[in-house]
Amino acid sequence: MFYLPTRIIFAEHAMQTAAEHIASLGRKALIVCGKTSAKTSGALDELLEVLQQSKMDWVEFAQVGENPDIHTVIRGKELLVKEVCDLVIAIGGGSPIDAAKAISLAAANDLKADEIYNVSLMHKAYPIIAIPTTAGTGSEVTQYSVLTIPEQKRKAGFGTDLAFPKLAILDPRYTLSLPEKVTLHTAIDALSHLLEGIYSVNRNPHLTLLIYRGIDNIIKYLSPCLKEPKHLLYRKSLMMASLYGGMTIAHSSTTLQHSIGYPLTSEFDIPHGLANGMVMQQIMDLYYPALQAELDALFQYLKISREYFYAWLDGFPLAAQVPMPDEMLEAKIPEIMSSRNMANNPIDVGAEDIRRILKSLQKDQ
Ligand code: NAP
Ligand code: ZN
Repeated sequence: MFYLPTRIIFAEHAMQTAAEHIASLGRKALIVCGKTSAKTSGALDELLEVLQQSKMDWVEFAQVGENPDIHTVIRGKELLVKEVCDLVIAIGGGSPIDAAKAISLAAANDLKADEIYNVSLMHKAYPIIAIPTTAGTGSEVTQYSVLTIPEQKRKAGFGTDLAFPKLAILDPRYTLSLPEKVTLHTAIDALSHLLEGIYSVNRNPHLTLLIYRGIDNIIKYLSPCLKEPKHLLYRKSLMMASLYGGMTIAHSSTTLQHSIGYPLTSEFDIPHGLANGMVMQQIMDLYYPALQAELDALFQYLKISREYFYAWLDGFPLAAQVPMPDEMLEAKIPEIMSSRNMANNPIDVGAEDIRRILKSLQKDQ
């Protein structure tokens, strides 16, 4: 099975190519973005030019922070309804794209804050256009939205086919302005998605070559890109890896690799990609005995060994420790065990496995 209802336009100057498709999706757009990246990436100006040419109207909702919360979504919904928009356009990293998906669904189905995760209440959506400015989440081609519930310090996602963007506009030029840390963390997020396409019990044979190619791109071009951040070919290679990672998790979903990172983000503000990177080797060690053939085939394709891969990862600042007291650690175990992604693990992951990994991240242990 392969299902991806998103039109993907990937090119330098993709916005102009996308113009006719943008115009066909609505009359008045709610533009959902963060405080600065839509502008600094150059994407907002290019979008506005196209909207003007097409005589489309728009209103901006530039209030989405990192790890967007459900209350931001409700504010966006209220603006969409008040301004009578019929289209949602996200510009930014995964945070604005995920918020835009939830805003579309909350507005179309008149959801309240405590109903945002209830997919059984979602029957329709306003069309969503996603314009990524990071190369990591692949959210522009997924059906997921990951949100924070601040009252519970909890991060969790939902998935529905209604949340797939109708159109994804990927221009690697928009990632030229990414700071070094965001470049690194988002690339590691994409790498996690690609690896999880191999780990997941729902792994999809149609994606194998894209997964291999995506991982190869990251291993070849991440270091050069960190050294030469304005190099368009490097940026393009990372954005392609991110796109393939999104296509992968749209089919295979994620695993413990992601579930264990969510509390690190909601409790300690660890960026999403870094949280994945902190546990990447331990997760691979945990799964390796069950997936030896699959992982050996990957390393054979990459012409590297697992040891080389670990040494390559060790070359980046991905080791971090968190001040997590034992009581908090114990409380997080059932939260992680109950997350949706755990159904996709290739082995039965027990509380003891999670405890061991979390303990290795504890400061002063
Ligand atoms: P992000 O939270 O969207 O953005 C991180 C930072 O990078 C922000 O400060 C942002 O600024 C800045 N930034 C973005 N693009 C930039 C650019 N071109 N130039 C300069 N600065 C830029 O980061 P992300 O890693 O892309 O998204 C992470 C979120 O996505 C997490 O909540 C994660 O759980 C979620 N996620 C979703 C999926 C999915 O399938 N739905 C998959 C994986 C992860 P502004 O604040 O100004 O925008
Ligand atoms: Zn991710």
